[in-house]
Amino acid sequence: MARPPSVRLVDPPWIEFAKRVLAGTPNLSGAACIGRHGLFDEQAHEDGETAETAARRHQEAAELCRRCPVLGACRTAWVDTPGVRHRPSGVIGGRTPATTTRGRPRMEAS
Ligand code: SF4
Repeated sequence: MARPPSVRLVDPPWIEFAKRVLAGTPNLSGAACIGRHGLFDEQAHEDGETAETAARRHQEAAELCRRCPVLGACRTAWVDTPGVRHRPSGVIGGRTPATTTRGRPRMEAS
């Protein structure tokens, strides 16, 4: 009985591209914000949200950040992102939008 031709498994070309894109991306596995983006968004996602309601929402998000297992990596990634315009907005690393839009963040103890 003839042996089947050997098959050489090769990664598709996009795998190498994805590896390059993701190189240097912080590992935020286990982040407390996973699945809760609405809490962290800077803009009110519901029409009619008042500034006070948004501020309370942001404080709730910041509380989650303070208990987040990857808080340090998140803050480092935010600070290391070049250019304020390229940084994500909203609550990031325990900072509320009031602090994230003023350039370099204050490094407060949490
Ligand atoms: S510290 Fe960063 S990763 Fe953790 S919950 Fe806050 S925004 Fe998400």
